[in-house]
Amino acid sequence: MIYDNDNIFAKILRGEIPCDKVFEDDHVLAFKDINAQAPVHFLVIPKGNYVSQEDFGANASDEEITAFYRAVAKIVSEQGLDAAGSRTISNSGVHGGQEVPHYHLHILGGRELGRMVE
Ligand code: AMP
Repeated sequence: MIYDNDNIFAKILRGEIPCDKVFEDDHVLAFKDINAQAPVHFLVIPKGNYVSQEDFGANASDEEITAFYRAVAKIVSEQGLDAAGSRTISNSGVHGGQEVPHYHLHILGGRELGRMVE
């Protein structure tokens, strides 16, 4: 998997385009999705150059993977999604409908989201 340095999340990480940030630490950035599909919809991305969940799981360091999921738990809690629940989606490749080739989780909540796949 070749990482495209010009993908839009790479540009956000370099500060070339803005984002509505909800969390940042050494390894992780989270920001609101520009086209929200629920009252709460944000994206969590690693700062490292990983194309997909498969790439991240296979090639990221233990430190990056731990930081990522610790951040997910913290952000979900900070965003007030603990009690009512939320949905996490990771799109990968053509069949997954992935538009941006930098690994990211969508986290959605704020209403009942219905069935997982229409
Ligand atoms: P995916 O199909 O999983 O690759 O989804 C990519 C997501 O990135 C979509 O939900 C877009 O709305 C979102 N997106 C694209 N550009 C931006 C941006 N500049 N800021 C925030 N979200 C974005």
